[in-house]
Amino acid sequence: MKKKLNLLKNEKRKILPVAFTVVLTFITIAGIASSNYGYVDKYFCIGCMTCVDVDSEDFQMNDNSIAFVRHNGEIRDADLFEIAKESCPMDAIHYTF
Ligand code: SF4
Repeated sequence: MKKKLNLLKNEKRKILPVAFTVVLTFITIAGIASSNYGYVDKYFCIGCMTCVDVDSEDFQMNDNSIAFVRHNGEIRDADLFEIAKESCPMDAIHYTF
């Protein structure tokens, strides 16, 4: 009986790290899939204002005519943000993961 209990304890020691890794991976993937933040790569932005025209709730131009994501990067309109992202001629708009 004592031998069986020891075997069971050993199995638990093996399973726990695996279970922890699986749960951590799931949480990470879920977080990536539901990212609500974005940013403009200022080194690629040419200041064409397309993103602002498409989604003025999420994009604004700074004093140097470079776009940035308003509200500290939090996306307010996911659909328009995606359209603006696809419309950017420099592929300068990205999601934050
Ligand atoms: S669409 Fe792209 S290149 Fe044009 S202002 Fe926006 S981020 Fe910059």
